[in-house]
Amino acid sequence: MNVRKMLTVAEVLHTEDHPQRTCIGCRKKGARSELLRLVAEGSGSTAVLVDERRRMAGRGAWLHPSEACLALAVKRRAFGRALNGATGSAAVERRIMAGKQDAGPLRMPPVAAAKTVQPESGSEN
Ligand SMILES: [Zn+2]
Repeated sequence: MNVRKMLTVAEVLHTEDHPQRTCIGCRKKGARSELLRLVAEGSGSTAVLVDERRRMAGRGAWLHPSEACLALAVKRRAFGRALNGATGSAAVERRIMAGKQDAGPLRMPPVAAAKTVQPESGSEN
């Protein structure tokens, strides 16, 4: 049986040009498509954001979407080191937890998606 993959010839050829990314948790390397791209929110915020489309500006860090790698990254304070002091990994944790429940073709329930991040009030000025 011929199982077709969702890869074009160009993409396959391209993988050689793209160096693999290193997970900041387990320090193993993986293809870009296997890792989450994380960026610092910046502008005085210490929040780490998940760059779903992998095209946000700024310095990025890479992490396997797994609880184990997240825990390792938190433990070794890899976020702050990789992202210029950004240590707020709450958004990353939510993303990984959501991904875990997403075992099938079902998407995240709208309730979870609609939940907005509450920035801490009383920002120093
Ligand atoms: Zn990892």
